[in-house]
Amino acid sequence: MYYLVIGLVLVLSLGVFAFAGGWLKAKPGPAEDRPAGLAAPVRLAAGPSTRAEVQEKLKRLADSPAPPVKLQGAMCYEPRAILDRTEYICPKDGARTLYTNEHGQAEVAAQIQYMREGIKLLKGLDVSLDEHEFCKKCNPGLDPSGLSPKGPALVLVVRYPDARTGKVEEHRVRGVTSSDLQLIQELLSGSLEHGLEGPDTGPLKDHLARLQELLGTRLAAYTRAELQARLQALADTEPPKTLATGAECYKPSMPPTTADYVCPKDGSRTQYKVGGPGSENLVHLVSRALPALRRMVADIPGLQVSLDESELCRKCNPGAKDPAAVLVIMLPGEKAARRVRGVTEDDLRLLRELATGALAHKDAQDGETPLKDHLPRIRELLGIESTAK
Ligand SMILES: [Zn+2]
Ligand SMILES: [Zn+2]
Repeated sequence: MYYLVIGLVLVLSLGVFAFAGGWLKAKPGPAEDRPAGLAAPVRLAAGPSTRAEVQEKLKRLADSPAPPVKLQGAMCYEPRAILDRTEYICPKDGARTLYTNEHGQAEVAAQIQYMREGIKLLKGLDVSLDEHEFCKKCNPGLDPSGLSPKGPALVLVVRYPDARTGKVEEHRVRGVTSSDLQLIQELLSGSLEHGLEGPDTGPLKDHLARLQELLGTRLAAYTRAELQARLQALADTEPPKTLATGAECYKPSMPPTTADYVCPKDGSRTQYKVGGPGSENLVHLVSRALPALRRMVADIPGLQVSLDESELCRKCNPGAKDPAAVLVIMLPGEKAARRVRGVTEDDLRLLRELATGALAHKDAQDGETPLKDHLPRIRELLGIESTAK
């Protein structure tokens, strides 16, 4: 299952890569093509957007219903010939740097020319590309083989004017790709869809975490009152008529019997072994669940959540009985954080679904149930009781 997902991600990213130029030619979806009831494109201000304006767009996206995934024969396209060498010409000094494709660098260098065009489509945002790492003259320490993990990378530079002081704040992201630019363009144009290869599309809101990273701004967190309203709206909405049943053929692999927890704070190792009550759950938590929990906690738009793992480290927390991962939720304007011990992957899926306005809950095998059936657990996680008597 895991490998299948990784495989799919690889196929998708390769697909996007091969069609790097495709979205540039495609006109950004006009309003008439939008299914009825979906948000109209956001009107762009004349000047570059401020951070607050970008945050507002992110919030609108998070609040809009996810359009359905549309896949039509994603597998039957003709792969583009892989470039085996690209000469990068620096626009500043004209210096030529040769890239071969031994490590995929020729493709990356070739992508830059598409991205220069792509940057021009990002209207209403003060944004540019810093290419200097690719030029052997501008970047004397360059290793064109790309073997070094630091290898050359493109840097996206976003500038936000401060409305009051007029000062400009700069945000830089290394390792930006053409599909990243596409995500930003889609957000700016008010699209709810993310164009995959050819005619295929998926919900843009699935990429909220990356958009926040690229734009250096976080969606304003929901307040207690806003969450209460979302919970009430979910309770009042009919669940979807059709729900997926999920994968049937799921082969569990042998669980490990030991797991080493490496503390991200102090680097010390704490070993957990199967044997004794609760030990199997702990080994599973450390070896399997924790990486997923860390990833998922970073991808819940509109909720300020983090994971407190300190109970798992014997150095940070000597003598902790029954250690667990603790979810920490901060609501804007509130002093005390909500702490939930023993948070699971399913819990984080529920929170993400609530935050993104989903009506169905997907379990680990992609089986669906009405999200409103899980309201008691969601309320418990958030510490928000129902006001309905
Ligand atoms: Zn140069
Ligand atoms: Zn520690």
